[in-house]
Amino acid sequence: MTHPSPDRPALAPEPAILEAAHERLRRLGARVTQPRLCILACLIGSDEALTHQAVIDRLPEQGETVDRVTVYRVLDWLVEQGVAQKRAGNDRVFRFSLVEHEAARAQEHRQHSHFHCTRCDRTFCLDDASAPALPVAPRVPSGFAIEHVELTVNGVCAECGKRAPAH
Ligand SMILES: [Zn+2]
Ligand SMILES: [Zn+2]
Repeated sequence: MTHPSPDRPALAPEPAILEAAHERLRRLGARVTQPRLCILACLIGSDEALTHQAVIDRLPEQGETVDRVTVYRVLDWLVEQGVAQKRAGNDRVFRFSLVEHEAARAQEHRQHSHFHCTRCDRTFCLDDASAPALPVAPRVPSGFAIEHVELTVNGVCAECGKRAPAH
Protein backbone atom coordinates (compact mmCIF):
# COMPACT_ATOMS: atom_id res chain seq x y z
CA MET A 1 0.00 0.00 0.00
CA THR A 2 1.42 3.34 -0.99
CA HIS A 3 -1.42 5.33 0.55
CA PRO A 4 -0.24 7.57 3.34
CA SER A 5 -1.84 6.34 6.52
CA PRO A 6 -4.48 8.71 7.86
CA ASP A 7 -2.72 8.99 11.21
CA ARG A 8 0.53 10.26 9.73
CA PRO A 9 1.53 13.60 11.22
CA ALA A 10 0.14 16.25 8.92
CA LEU A 11 2.63 18.62 7.38
CA ALA A 12 2.48 22.23 8.41
CA PRO A 13 1.35 24.41 5.53
CA GLU A 14 4.07 26.25 3.64
CA PRO A 15 4.87 29.73 4.94
CA ALA A 16 3.80 31.34 1.64
CA ILE A 17 0.39 29.67 1.87
CA LEU A 18 -0.01 30.67 5.50
CA GLU A 19 0.93 34.22 4.55
CA ALA A 20 -1.70 34.19 1.77
CA ALA A 21 -4.31 32.91 4.22
CA HIS A 22 -3.33 35.59 6.70
CA GLU A 23 -3.60 38.32 4.07
CA ARG A 24 -6.99 37.00 2.96
CA LEU A 25 -8.39 37.11 6.49
CA ARG A 26 -7.01 40.59 7.00
CA ARG A 27 -8.65 41.81 3.82
CA LEU A 28 -11.97 40.40 5.06
CA GLY A 29 -11.51 42.50 8.15
CA ALA A 30 -11.91 39.31 10.13
CA ARG A 31 -10.19 38.32 13.31
CA VAL A 32 -7.21 36.13 12.49
CA THR A 33 -7.41 33.02 14.63
CA GLN A 34 -5.25 29.91 14.47
CA PRO A 35 -8.11 27.63 13.26
CA ARG A 36 -9.21 30.09 10.56
CA LEU A 37 -5.64 30.49 9.40
CA CYS A 38 -4.90 26.75 9.25
CA ILE A 39 -8.19 25.79 7.63
CA LEU A 40 -8.03 28.54 5.01
CA ALA A 41 -4.40 27.59 4.30
CA CYS A 42 -5.62 24.02 3.76
CA LEU A 43 -8.08 25.17 1.09
CA ILE A 44 -5.54 27.47 -0.56
CA GLY A 45 -2.98 24.67 -0.69
CA SER A 46 -5.32 22.06 -2.10
CA ASP A 47 -5.92 21.46 -5.81
CA GLU A 48 -9.13 19.61 -5.11
CA ALA A 49 -12.23 20.21 -3.05
CA LEU A 50 -11.89 18.77 0.46
CA THR A 51 -14.38 17.05 2.75
CA HIS A 52 -14.51 17.98 6.44
CA GLN A 53 -12.49 14.88 7.18
CA ALA A 54 -9.86 15.71 4.57
CA VAL A 55 -9.43 19.14 6.13
CA ILE A 56 -9.10 17.61 9.59
CA ASP A 57 -6.49 15.15 8.28
CA ARG A 58 -4.45 17.98 6.80
CA LEU A 59 -4.35 20.22 9.84
CA PRO A 60 -0.94 20.48 11.45
CA GLU A 61 -0.78 18.57 14.68
CA GLN A 62 1.65 20.73 16.51
CA GLY A 63 0.38 23.65 18.46
CA GLU A 64 -3.24 24.12 19.30
CA THR A 65 -5.34 21.24 18.06
CA VAL A 66 -8.51 22.20 16.24
CA ASP A 67 -11.55 20.16 17.21
CA ARG A 68 -14.08 18.85 14.68
CA VAL A 69 -16.83 21.29 15.62
CA THR A 70 -14.47 24.20 15.03
CA VAL A 71 -13.51 22.81 11.62
CA TYR A 72 -17.21 22.61 10.65
CA ARG A 73 -17.87 26.12 11.95
CA VAL A 74 -14.86 27.71 10.27
CA LEU A 75 -15.61 26.04 6.92
CA ASP A 76 -19.20 27.31 6.99
CA TRP A 77 -17.94 30.73 8.01
CA LEU A 78 -15.57 30.78 5.01
CA VAL A 79 -18.54 29.94 2.77
CA GLU A 80 -20.57 32.80 4.32
CA GLN A 81 -17.67 35.16 3.70
CA GLY A 82 -17.62 34.18 0.03
CA VAL A 83 -14.11 32.76 0.32
CA ALA A 84 -15.00 29.10 0.02
CA GLN A 85 -17.57 27.14 -1.90
CA LYS A 86 -19.50 24.19 -0.50
CA ARG A 87 -20.84 21.55 -2.81
CA ALA A 88 -22.20 18.05 -2.35
CA GLY A 89 -20.46 15.47 -4.51
CA ASN A 90 -22.05 12.47 -6.18
CA ASP A 91 -21.50 10.63 -2.90
CA ARG A 92 -23.64 13.30 -1.16
CA VAL A 93 -20.68 14.34 0.97
CA PHE A 94 -19.98 18.05 1.19
CA ARG A 95 -16.69 19.31 -0.16
CA PHE A 96 -15.12 22.70 0.30
CA SER A 97 -12.85 24.59 -2.02
CA LEU A 98 -11.49 28.08 -2.50
CA VAL A 99 -13.75 30.07 -4.85
CA GLU A 100 -10.81 31.12 -7.06
CA HIS A 101 -9.73 27.50 -7.46
CA GLU A 102 -13.28 26.57 -8.39
CA ALA A 103 -13.46 29.35 -10.99
CA ALA A 104 -10.12 28.28 -12.47
CA ARG A 105 -11.33 24.69 -12.64
CA ALA A 106 -14.59 25.70 -14.32
CA GLN A 107 -12.54 27.62 -16.86
CA GLU A 108 -10.35 24.58 -17.44
CA HIS A 109 -13.36 22.28 -17.87
CA ARG A 110 -14.67 24.56 -20.60
CA GLN A 111 -11.67 23.67 -22.71
CA HIS A 112 -12.65 20.03 -23.14
CA SER A 113 -15.66 17.78 -23.42
CA HIS A 114 -17.24 15.57 -20.78
CA PHE A 115 -18.86 12.20 -20.46
CA HIS A 116 -21.74 11.97 -18.04
CA CYS A 117 -22.72 8.53 -16.79
CA THR A 118 -26.48 8.33 -16.42
CA ARG A 119 -26.24 5.44 -13.92
CA CYS A 120 -23.72 6.65 -11.35
CA ASP A 121 -24.15 10.33 -12.22
CA ARG A 122 -20.39 10.87 -12.38
CA THR A 123 -18.87 13.19 -14.95
CA PHE A 124 -15.57 12.36 -16.62
CA CYS A 125 -13.28 14.75 -18.48
CA LEU A 126 -12.47 13.72 -22.04
CA ASP A 127 -9.11 14.75 -23.40
CA ASP A 128 -8.91 17.19 -26.25
CA ALA A 129 -7.62 14.66 -28.74
CA SER A 130 -10.78 12.54 -28.45
CA ALA A 131 -13.12 15.46 -28.99
CA PRO A 132 -14.42 16.52 -32.36
CA ALA A 133 -14.09 20.16 -33.31
CA LEU A 134 -16.07 22.24 -30.86
CA PRO A 135 -19.80 21.96 -31.46
CA VAL A 136 -21.32 24.71 -33.50
CA ALA A 137 -23.46 26.96 -31.35
CA PRO A 138 -27.19 26.49 -31.96
CA ARG A 139 -29.20 29.53 -32.89
CA VAL A 140 -30.41 31.32 -29.78
CA PRO A 141 -33.41 33.60 -29.34
CA SER A 142 -32.79 37.23 -30.16
CA GLY A 143 -31.32 39.17 -27.30
CA PHE A 144 -29.50 36.10 -25.94
CA ALA A 145 -25.71 36.14 -25.88
CA ILE A 146 -23.68 32.94 -26.09
CA GLU A 147 -20.65 32.79 -23.79
CA HIS A 148 -19.44 29.29 -24.44
CA VAL A 149 -20.68 25.99 -25.80
CA GLU A 150 -19.91 22.72 -24.09
CA LEU A 151 -20.21 19.17 -25.26
CA THR A 152 -21.37 16.56 -22.77
CA VAL A 153 -21.81 13.01 -23.94
CA ASN A 154 -24.35 11.02 -21.93
CA GLY A 155 -24.11 7.29 -21.52
CA VAL A 156 -22.93 4.48 -19.24
CA CYS A 157 -19.35 4.47 -17.91
CA ALA A 158 -17.14 1.37 -18.08
CA GLU A 159 -17.57 0.57 -14.42
CA CYS A 160 -21.36 0.73 -14.54
CA GLY A 161 -21.36 -1.13 -17.85
CA LYS A 162 -19.75 -4.14 -16.16
CA ARG A 163 -22.53 -4.34 -13.60
CA ALA A 164 -25.86 -5.94 -14.33
CA PRO A 165 -28.22 -3.54 -16.08
CA ALA A 166 -30.50 -1.63 -13.77
CA HIS A 167 -34.06 -2.98 -13.63
ZN1 LIG B 1 -13.40 18.45 -17.28
ZN1 LIG C 1 -21.18 5.02 -14.11
